[in-house]
Amino acid sequence: MSVFDELVGQEAVVDQLRRAVSGKTTHAWLFTGPPGSGRSVAARAFAAALLCETGGCGVCPSCRQVRAGTHADLLLVRPEGLSYGVRQTRDLVLRAAGAPSGGRWLVVLFEDADRCTEAAANALLKAIEEPAPRTVWLLCAPSAEDLAPTIRSRCRVVTLRVPTSSAVAAVLEERDGIDPERALAAARAAQGHVGRARRLATDPSAAERRAAVLRVPVSATSVGAALAAAAALVGTAEEEAKAVTEQLDEPEREALRRAFGEGSTGKGVAKAMRGMAGAMKDLEDRQKSRATRVKRDTLDGALLELAAFYRDVLMLQCGADVELANADRLTDLRRLASKSPPEATLRRIEAVMRCRERLTLNVAPLLAVEEMTLSLARG
Ligand SMILES: [Zn+2]
Repeated sequence: MSVFDELVGQEAVVDQLRRAVSGKTTHAWLFTGPPGSGRSVAARAFAAALLCETGGCGVCPSCRQVRAGTHADLLLVRPEGLSYGVRQTRDLVLRAAGAPSGGRWLVVLFEDADRCTEAAANALLKAIEEPAPRTVWLLCAPSAEDLAPTIRSRCRVVTLRVPTSSAVAAVLEERDGIDPERALAAARAAQGHVGRARRLATDPSAAERRAAVLRVPVSATSVGAALAAAAALVGTAEEEAKAVTEQLDEPEREALRRAFGEGSTGKGVAKAMRGMAGAMKDLEDRQKSRATRVKRDTLDGALLELAAFYRDVLMLQCGADVELANADRLTDLRRLASKSPPEATLRRIEAVMRCRERLTLNVAPLLAVEEMTLSLARG
């Protein structure tokens, strides 16, 4: 067993990281790869390997603590809002300047480092330029271009690739006991995203939401139907996002209440309660910001599914012999492919991509999606 077992279809990366653990370690690393390729999983495995006495056995207390996120020499940073500010980054840099409590290294794992604001990136750069002697920075971002050149030029880059459908399916079969046919269909539909493939194969409501998204190309054929499809798409994304955030919100509030000893009496309680009100306000602001982000990410995921659907249509129209992401929807794909020319499919893919872009520019989601579904209906 090894901490690297979790990485699916990333043999080259595992080789690179294993060599780095036994050799002289660089102080700043950048893990890149598209969503779902497992960049933070890879960074976490590398952190475990650095902190483990035997290079990442996967079973010792240190490896287990890294997995649980409770290791004293691992600072985990997970920006939950749309951006990560300078104040938080300065705090982090200060903490990262310390010495490890036990082992060789103090490891800072910074997920979604591309969410740093410009000022935050500057604060980060200083820490990476002159790292504390025993500190290792592991940054994660979709691509190296997502970080300022000054930062990425100081990092060793680890590039994850999208695992093949068969590699993802094999994991679902072996670890989750899913039957081969369903595992492969889910792996294809998730386009290499292991977590999403697992959800699609095991969670009926996730599969249902996907079905709702993929009804859009078939149903959006008139103005009325296009507008209805837009509302359904936004509604589905909101529902899914709500399901995700609700699971997180209440336990966090509960933990905060416990930390402030709500319900206790005695001297100082009134003061503590005032402190709690402030902390609760902070927490709720962060939760709100996270909800916005999850909503946007969820809708973006739905749009990527739509784009993949039209790409499949285009592949059929061109007679290309490639693996289809939506092979389980062959009837719909064929019908669309025969009803319109490839140029229309390309325009539809562009409409989806334009919608994604407008969402990053903070256009109201329903407005952007309506514009898209109207374009889809026009062809
Ligand atoms: Zn270990």
